[in-house]
Amino acid sequence: MSFLELLQAVPAAFIGVCLILGMMVGSFLNVVIYRLPKMMEFGWQQQCAELRGEEPAAAPTYNLVVPRSACPHCNHAIGAWENIPIVSYLLLRGKCKGCGAAISPRYPAIEAISGLLCGFAAWHFGFGWAAVGAVLLIWALLALTAIDFDTQLLPDDITLPLLWAGLLFNLSGVFTDLHSAVLGALFGYLALWSVYWLFKFTTGKEGMGYGDFKLLAALGAWLGWQMLPLIILLSSLVGAVIGIALMVAAKHGRNVPIPFGPYLAGGGLIALFWGQALTQIYLQLLSAS
Ligand SMILES: [Zn+2]
Repeated sequence: MSFLELLQAVPAAFIGVCLILGMMVGSFLNVVIYRLPKMMEFGWQQQCAELRGEEPAAAPTYNLVVPRSACPHCNHAIGAWENIPIVSYLLLRGKCKGCGAAISPRYPAIEAISGLLCGFAAWHFGFGWAAVGAVLLIWALLALTAIDFDTQLLPDDITLPLLWAGLLFNLSGVFTDLHSAVLGALFGYLALWSVYWLFKFTTGKEGMGYGDFKLLAALGAWLGWQMLPLIILLSSLVGAVIGIALMVAAKHGRNVPIPFGPYLAGGGLIALFWGQALTQIYLQLLSAS
């Protein structure tokens, strides 16, 4: 029996493998979340320098692969034993081995969330392409959520490949038919684009960024246009609840931009797992009234 046959035959093995893989990739997502915005910023600075006719700055000292991760306080290089998802954090009691500075609990949290969501996707979809797609979508949404939260940016380097990947999976109808996927990408973009301009014309303010349009377009490509109203509804609900809570708790000023990306990502994840069921309930309610 080959390894793939084993995963197909024993659901628990498939779920376990996805859980562990999810935690390991979660560790890499932490690197992406930390480094990608800095790499983008460096690229912009280089472009600006070029436009001003100045000498571009020296090449970046890192990318997503090199160098190895190091403590941001003391530059202590993180060895293999200190890089095991979650386990290392617990063994080190959340402190750097070199200088004792606290390690942000967000690192193990991202690893744990990635592992749990991937395990859940394996259980929910079972062995097959839908689980593979769901796992990829989960990783992209997790990285986008954290980056948007930190920097209010949704990098094209993630949203655009995510859109193409959604269309590719639906070429053979993994989540929806190709027709619905293409329309989903188009309507997803246009829906928020229209809201943006409406908001800008009526209030003179910018309510969201172009990254949000691209993220909803990507979700439409993965899940089909039929899911867009549900995703927007879910993300607005989550956004309203968290937004109000933030304003009350931290006296978050009304003009401080609250990123919309994490809510879109949350709405997209709920739609990925329960979209069909929720839409059916919704349609039944409509036909009953
Ligand atoms: Zn340190």
